[in-house]
Amino acid sequence: MSIKDYVALKKEEMRKEVSELKIVPTLAIIQVNDDPASNAYVKGKLKDAENIGIKGILIKLDESISEEDLIKEINKINNDDSIHGLIVQMPLPKQINEEHIKLMVDPKKDVDGFHPLSSFNPCTPQGIVDYLKAENVDFADKNAVVIGRSNIVGKPMAKMLTNLNCNTTILHSKTSKKNLEMFLANADIIVIAIGKKWFLDKQTFKNDAIIVDVGINREDGKLYGDARPDLNVKLQTPVPGGVGLLTRLTLMKNLLQAYYQEIK
Ligand code: NDP
Repeated sequence: MSIKDYVALKKEEMRKEVSELKIVPTLAIIQVNDDPASNAYVKGKLKDAENIGIKGILIKLDESISEEDLIKEINKINNDDSIHGLIVQMPLPKQINEEHIKLMVDPKKDVDGFHPLSSFNPCTPQGIVDYLKAENVDFADKNAVVIGRSNIVGKPMAKMLTNLNCNTTILHSKTSKKNLEMFLANADIIVIAIGKKWFLDKQTFKNDAIIVDVGINREDGKLYGDARPDLNVKLQTPVPGGVGLLTRLTLMKNLLQAYYQEIK
């Protein structure tokens, strides 16, 4: 099933589920910047919430806010039982340490999965795993290659694939071309998250490989992935209309999960 169809189906299932709940699941988003990319992401999240029947609350704060005052705002939401999930939209202004802020969100409400004790995995790798499972992908003893080692995508992705019994390798900017090509040629599952337009292109891939393209690269107002589209493999996720949709879906799934944990 295409990612678009899969996401539409899962959202419809959630919409039905939410329509039967007595207390409305509620998501708060704190935004401390006004850049166009963040505005677009926040708008998308609020729209997803609305479509499913989740109440979305946007708290826009002045860009000059101090870290201390931002933490006060976060704590208000942490202590508000009527709010089940909280997102602090990144990036944050320079005067605020993002790593501190990630630790201030109540782990039970941390639907982004950024806190080390969060009830949730980060949304992007979780969304990818859920989709691949729905596609009946076999993980055991498969050679998985993750390119990129960020804390929100590459590293948790590699951990999750390893837990699914893949033989997992993480590659990064210091990996030589020779090793990159060697690992790719033997890979059954490739996840690329580096932010370099069409980095995967002329390398050799197995015909039955799966390429999951996380990259989002903007050029002349258009979006491109980290892999050239239509490589000769069994399954390649598109950009746009691929992993971004899975990430957004997972955020809503996590919010519902946080809701059930809270009202229990
Ligand atoms: P970061 O910028 O935090 O990290 C990039 C990683 O890529 C680093 O580990 C870096 O290696 C590695 N890298 C950079 N250049 C190369 C190279 N030439 N060869 C191999 N590895 C390289 O990335 P994120 O994980 O935050 O994001 C990656 C991409 O995914 C971006 O395009 C981002 O926009 C997109 N993204 C998309 C999401 C979605 O929902 N679709 C969600 C999150 C991100 P090193 O550690 O050595 O520096």
